Formats: sequence, structure tokens, C-alpha cells
Amino acid sequence: MNCYSRLAPTIRWSRLQHHTQQSILNERYPVRQISSTQVHFDRHDCKVLVVGGGSGGCALAAKLSNRLGKGQVIVLEPAERHYYQPMFTLIGGGMKRLEHCHKPMADVLPKKAKWMREAACEFDPDNNTVKTSGGNTIKYDMLLIATGLQLNYEKIPGLEKALSVPDGNVCSIYSPLYVEHVFDCLRKISGGNAIFTFPHCPIKCAGAPQKIAYIADHYFRKVGKRDDISITYNTALPVLFGVKHYADALWPIMKKRNITVNTCRNLIEVKHEQDIAVFEDVNKPGELYEEKYSMLHAVPPMSPPDELTRCKQLVNDDGYVDVDKFTLQHIKYKNVFAIGDSSSTPNSKTAAAAAAQSPVVFDNMMAVIEGKPLTGSYDGYASCPLVTGYHTCMLAEFDYNLTPLETFPVAQNKERYSMFIMKKDFMPLLYWKLMLPGYWNGPALMRNMLSVFKSKKHK
Ligand SMILES: Cc1cc2nc3c(=O)[nH]c(=O)nc-3n(C[C@H](O)[C@H](O)[C@H](O)COP(=O)(O)OP(=O)(O)OC[C@H]3O[C@@H](n4cnc5c(N)ncnc54)[C@H](O)[C@@H]3O)c2cc1C
Repeated sequence: MNCYSRLAPTIRWSRLQHHTQQSILNERYPVRQISSTQVHFDRHDCKVLVVGGGSGGCALAAKLSNRLGKGQVIVLEPAERHYYQPMFTLIGGGMKRLEHCHKPMADVLPKKAKWMREAACEFDPDNNTVKTSGGNTIKYDMLLIATGLQLNYEKIPGLEKALSVPDGNVCSIYSPLYVEHVFDCLRKISGGNAIFTFPHCPIKCAGAPQKIAYIADHYFRKVGKRDDISITYNTALPVLFGVKHYADALWPIMKKRNITVNTCRNLIEVKHEQDIAVFEDVNKPGELYEEKYSMLHAVPPMSPPDELTRCKQLVNDDGYVDVDKFTLQHIKYKNVFAIGDSSSTPNSKTAAAAAAQSPVVFDNMMAVIEGKPLTGSYDGYASCPLVTGYHTCMLAEFDYNLTPLETFPVAQNKERYSMFIMKKDFMPLLYWKLMLPGYWNGPALMRNMLSVFKSKKHK
């Protein structure tokens, strides 16, 4: 079985207004000769192999190929399009369109690196090789793993089926296949229960499941139907948000907006023919709640890709690349590093975190190449722009200790229009123009410069 065949059943055609069936097929089953470099050999050698050309992989491939020169870096990436995923939340709220959030992979990957449009199928870190979906073997001196997380919609019985119903009432901002349907659901619902979920596992952008609930609330108010719709946010977490400083500010917003929050409640099944979502109390296995919905926004369980988790030498018990949380170097293989969502570092999984990791990974990989000691150290910085409606956002920024690590000299645990504009208009530019080409190292420098304006209270 081809290592990508497992993705086939997850593809649903009905919602793909911007994708032809053939382009998605090409995306999922790249054939061997469509590598952009037209490489036809079975064996490739490189100084650095980057597996995954998403937020972290693309930024690092740019930095490394700039330093090492043309042809030294291979990027293994099967997707035809690069998505700016943080925009999915705004697309769900009808503030942006899907075509605003992606570019051809060929346009964003660095020209000095070789792009092989194939997936990594088998990692062999003892022999410094990776086998690809096209039957190639790549030998590397250094390996950077940046595969992100896979979306496991199929792990919730009935969910994929519910998502695939044409004009159905189940949606999800997490996948480009389903994100556009979210705003359809917001428009269509006229009364009853709108239920929003958060699954029982680590996910990327842990704020997004509640952001879309706030946006839905604001939308229903704007169009005058809020009184007819009750909103529930069912999260498998024991808390509303992992950082107390922001959770304390978010609870009153939930209350003011009349959104019911149930903690420790995990979606385990969707019976779409009856419009029933089944939840389990995570502290009392077997204790089930059936809730009738008029609209369901579901967030899938996630995990690093199967191709990676199969390589037990590289991953920890949960399937994440087992790296040192400060140096981002693999615990056992000194020529292996990880960046972004698939690494074992206990930070919040965001593109902002990958940006802050990028100078650390770059410096430490270069140190290994040059035989020098590692100097880069990652502090766990992550940020989450918590959009709370059509004009407001609370910019959460914090580190490994869940201590706020804020950039701006204002109280960031407040909803602000300025932060909303930054999220909607400035951050996409920052991503495409600075992060992906390898120039953005996170806001640490800006934070230091702005710290002179901070009052003692906000330092
Ligand atoms: C709805 C939503 C909202 C979000 N909001 C925000 C936000 O507001 N702020 C923020 O900072 N972050 C946000 N994020 C999170 C952010 O998008 C991710 O954390 C970030 O993209 C992670 O980067 P990455 O490089 O680890 O993975 P990705 O960017 O996901 O890239 C992984 C790449 O690896 C490739 N790949 C997978 N398997 C293989 C394989 N076997 N071989 C080769 N390549 C492979 C994939 O095709 C993909 O291109 C959001 C995400 C979502 C879904």
C-alpha cells in the first residue's frame, strides 16, 4: 500500500469549490516524475533534508539554503498548495475567502532548495535515509522534521459522513476541505442548538475552537437571530484556556455572551441522521451525553502523521519527534531536529511558535554542521490571537511556564480592535513576506524594543 493511500477515504468532493478532483488527487498521490526538479534517480544525497514544507519547514529551508547555497537542501513535500492555516478561522466567519489563504507550493519554497513533490514514507535514522512515496531514497547529513499534524476526522464515528452531507449542518474550520462550509452553516441555522467542540488530545491552535464560537455568537447577533439560538462550547479540556491570565479574561466573555461552556466533555460520535452529537465525560468513561444540534462545529483529533509515528526510534510514546525542548535537537540522533507541530516540545502548537523556534533550529543545525557547540535555546514562546468577533481580538502570548510573554505595552488580556486588525491584515503579510522567506524570527526583538514603554504593571 502506498503510504498516502490511507488519505483517500478522507477526501470529500462536494465542498471543493476551489479544487478540482484531479488537483486534489495530484496533491495526495504525487507521481514520481512530477518533482519540480525533474529528478529521475532512485537515490539522492543532500546536506539537509527538510521533511514538510509548511510553516516551519519552509522558513527553515529558506534560512538553510541561503546559508548553504544552491542544491544543498532538499524539501520533501507532497502538497501542491501551501495554506496559511491561521486564516481558516476568519474564513469560517465569512471575513476572508479560501482563495486568500493559499499559494502554490512552488512559489513559496526557496528557489535554492530542491523540491521533491513526494511524501516521506519511511524514516531510517540509523542509516540517515528517508524513503519516499515515489520510491526514492534520500540520504542526508542532517534531517529536519516539519510534518505538522494530521487531522483524524475518521476517529470520531459518523463525523466524516456528517461533514460530507451536501448542505449539511456539520462543519469544521480545521480542513481546507470543510472550512468554507462553516459560514454556510452560520447563515443557514435559524434556531436550536449550535454546538462547538474541542477534542481530547493536543491540537494546533488550541484557541481556534472557541474563536469560531465567539464569531458565531457575534454573527447571530448581527443578523438578529441570537435569541433563537443557544450556543454551547463543549471542551474535553478541564479549562477554558491553558494560560490562566487569559482564561480569567475569557470566562467573563463567555458569560456575557451567554455561551454555555462544558469542560471535560469530549465528542465521541455524530449521529447525523438524527442531528445528535454524543459526548463522554473524560473523567467518567462511559458517562455519555446525547445533545441535539441544529449546527455542529467539530474539531478533529490530531496526531503527527502515521509515516512518522511508525518510526519508533524518532518519536516519543505519543508519536511526537522526541527532541530536547530547549535546543530542538533529537534526544538520540544529533543530526536530527524538529520544528513546529510534530515536535515533542510542550508549547502551544502555532505558526507563531514555529517562527520563534526557527532561529534556534537554524543556529543549532549550523552548529552541528560546523562542529561547534549548540547555543540556541527556545523558551516555549507561542501566541494565539483570540478573535472574539468581527472587530475584536485578545492577543495571548506566553512561554513554556504559561507565563505571559507579551510584545506590546498594553494589557493584552483585553479585547482590542488594534489586535483584530493585526490578526486580519498584518499577520498574513508577515507570514508570506517575512516568515516563509526565512526573515522573521518571532517578536522577541520587537518585545525588547517596546519594553521601554511598558508600565511596571505590564512588564
Ligand atoms: C483553524 C486553524 C487556526 C489556526 N490559527 C493560528 C493562529 O491564529 N496563529 C498561529 O500562529 N497558528 C495558528 N494555527 C496553527 C498553525 O497553522 C500551525 O501551528 C503551523 O502551520 C504549524 O507549522 P508546521 O510547519 O509544524 O506544520 P504545517 O504548516 O501544517 O506543515 C506541515 C507540512 O508537512 C507536510 N507533510 C505531512 N506529512 C508529510 C510527509 N509524510 N512527508 C512530507 N511532507 C509531509 C504537509 O503536507 C504540510 O505541508 C492555526 C491552525 C488551524 C488549522
